[in-house]
Amino acid sequence: MQVHRLPALSDNYIFLLHDPAQNVAAVVDPADAVPVLHCLKTLGAELVAILNTHHHADHVGGNTSLLQQFPDAVVYGGAEDRGRIPGQQVFLQEGDRVSFGDHEAKVLFVPGHTRAHIAYYFAPVTANEAGHLFCGDTLFSGGCGRLFEGTPTQMVQSLNKLRTLPDNTCVWCAHEYTLKNLEFALTVDSANAALQQRFAAVNVARSQHEATIPSNLGVEKHTNPFLRWDNAGIQAAVQADNDIQTFARLRGMKDRF
Ligand code: ZN
Ligand code: FE
Repeated sequence: MQVHRLPALSDNYIFLLHDPAQNVAAVVDPADAVPVLHCLKTLGAELVAILNTHHHADHVGGNTSLLQQFPDAVVYGGAEDRGRIPGQQVFLQEGDRVSFGDHEAKVLFVPGHTRAHIAYYFAPVTANEAGHLFCGDTLFSGGCGRLFEGTPTQMVQSLNKLRTLPDNTCVWCAHEYTLKNLEFALTVDSANAALQQRFAAVNVARSQHEATIPSNLGVEKHTNPFLRWDNAGIQAAVQADNDIQTFARLRGMKDRF
């Protein structure tokens, strides 16, 4: 499976998943149809699936136009997004499987950013490969999504589910927020050498307009405060003494950062 990262709107990424053997493609969170159609044309591939993580316009805005060009494409989304995703035909729950070409993803129910949010995880097929996680606005590189329709408890459960995936998993987040996220991370985890190094590297990458997505789950576990609610140093920095309170304080501080 080849993943094409397509910038869209001001800071979104759309991911086009191409199966060269069958020359079919799936798209994750098409904010806009134009870059997707362009990429499909370049590849000469047929779009067979639209994989939405949640109903926000910057994740589903291209659905209708894509369906006009590819009327047989199947539109997937979370079961609890019924009525909120244009063209949705399949209503997914935790553990469901979604396939296109020779590839299959497992659905993870990860509410918090919205009440219906799901993620798609393509497990590695061989021992040498990495898995691919498409997590929408749940886990960001160096951060996490805002809580629009969920509670800190739900989001911790959701992020904990993602945290249990293998360290070498490629994390395909839907926004280019890494630099700003790491600036915040340093305010609560300033002594973390891995975080300091990562911030320096991301600063250089962004000054050269390079994308920081995909991230890597092992890197996130060591440098993303929103996966480190159980770290003693971070708990002390936000003056909290349990996991949920730590996460809630971090999220509130980041909302105002
Ligand atoms: Zn969103
Ligand atoms: Fe978004």
